Amino acid sequence: MTPKVRVRFAPSPTGEPHLGNLRTAVFNWLYARSTGGDFIVRIEDTDQQRLVPGAVNTILESLHWLGLDWDEGPDLPTGQFGPYYQSQRKTLYTVIKDLLITQGAAYECYCSPERLQEMRQTQQQAKTRVGYDGKCRDLSIADQEKSAATTSPVVRFRMPDEGTTTCTDYIRGDIVFDNSLIDDFVIMKSDGYPTYHFASVIDDHAMEISHVMRADEWLSSLPRHVHLYQALGYELPTFVHLPIILGPDRSKLSKRHGATSILEYKDAGFLPDAILNFLALLGWSLDDSSELFSRDQLIDSFTIDRVGDSAAVFDIDKLSWMNGVYIRDLSNSQLATEIEPFLDVSADLALATPDQPDLVDIVPVIKERIKTLREADEMISFFGDHELVYDPSLLIPKGLDEKHATTILDSVYPILEKTTDFTTATIDTTLRAHAIELELKPGQVFSVLRVALTGRTVAPPLFETMEILGQAQSLKRIRQAKTLMENRK
Ligand code: GLU
Repeated sequence: MTPKVRVRFAPSPTGEPHLGNLRTAVFNWLYARSTGGDFIVRIEDTDQQRLVPGAVNTILESLHWLGLDWDEGPDLPTGQFGPYYQSQRKTLYTVIKDLLITQGAAYECYCSPERLQEMRQTQQQAKTRVGYDGKCRDLSIADQEKSAATTSPVVRFRMPDEGTTTCTDYIRGDIVFDNSLIDDFVIMKSDGYPTYHFASVIDDHAMEISHVMRADEWLSSLPRHVHLYQALGYELPTFVHLPIILGPDRSKLSKRHGATSILEYKDAGFLPDAILNFLALLGWSLDDSSELFSRDQLIDSFTIDRVGDSAAVFDIDKLSWMNGVYIRDLSNSQLATEIEPFLDVSADLALATPDQPDLVDIVPVIKERIKTLREADEMISFFGDHELVYDPSLLIPKGLDEKHATTILDSVYPILEKTTDFTTATIDTTLRAHAIELELKPGQVFSVLRVALTGRTVAPPLFETMEILGQAQSLKRIRQAKTLMENRK
């Protein structure tokens, strides 16, 4: 029987989670959900210098927002594998460290930071391997005791000096590392906290993780981990290193390519389902063409066999396009609910007053035009019951003069006032017929009205907008435009 799939997302709470972190979370979550396995969140908070207060909450909030749920984690009642904060598992690491020292697989190192710095400089100058030179490998008990009186040691793992280590990655196959290039690395720091390498190997084993799926930057650590597994007599999990994420210019993804923090995307009005879909495609594909996947489709189709080995390219234009698709997919009432938190509360769009159009009636005219929820606010702000502020010269259509603008406004008013069926279709027919009577192009008439009704030259479709504004508000705005034209003289 194959053991149950147990995968983990193991963030370090050192700042806001970025797209790369969340991509790792998404792949692990999808794999757990598609195999009926467990998804575990483990907080790797052993680097006390780099801890950022509040980062754990931000990480969990980002996961929640993306709709990734976990079976075990720091905020859930501790099961048999907890605690899920590494800082609360120090006793375990200490016991295992002592065991490795007793076995001779690890040793205490008393070298000062100054000595190590000097050592590195000399190595760099001599162009030899940069890494620990093994000075404390075989200290006598007496020397150790003498150093211990003044210095807290670190603990290093003894790596073989020669030979090779073959590591297997699920995506890349066997990779052979030259042992002489890997130094005796630190497993326990002088503050009594383990290093990432040590704690993650112990925890992945203790938490019965079946697949270690993580960013490709950890591939170079794999031989260290493999040696730790072997020294501890642990069975190796399956390692899956996810391809690096690059910007469109093929340099490592960074701030230069747009926001990297996932919560910035939330604030910019991206939908979690769009982000999930987008992140799933950063290194995984079903085939050469499918791009849009609902949450359930992703779970149904995700396999680690289709994780690629070449770099994934982050393309903000593609993400914006995808977000637009997800926005158009929402029903009007869903979209109105999503947009509401993004509306500027101080805006004059007093959606709550009885004379105002409902947001749900407005959203159809902007649905095709927005790529993020935040763009909606600016686009619909003219729907409020307030005096529009605009430059009256905008009312003068291209190629015509202000007399024409006045004629259009004056003549259109009684026609619209008489219109009993104030709907898109009727307004459309009525205004087109009127343009013919005025011997003007329809576009010229519409452009005057567009500015009168919205205060801008680029706006959602005119007749729909008029229907939503309603007859009274539309007439009021035409009156306002007429006054503006008169005062211009
Ligand atoms: N704490 C590591 C990180 O935040 C986790 C690496 C791993 O998944 O093993 O990148």
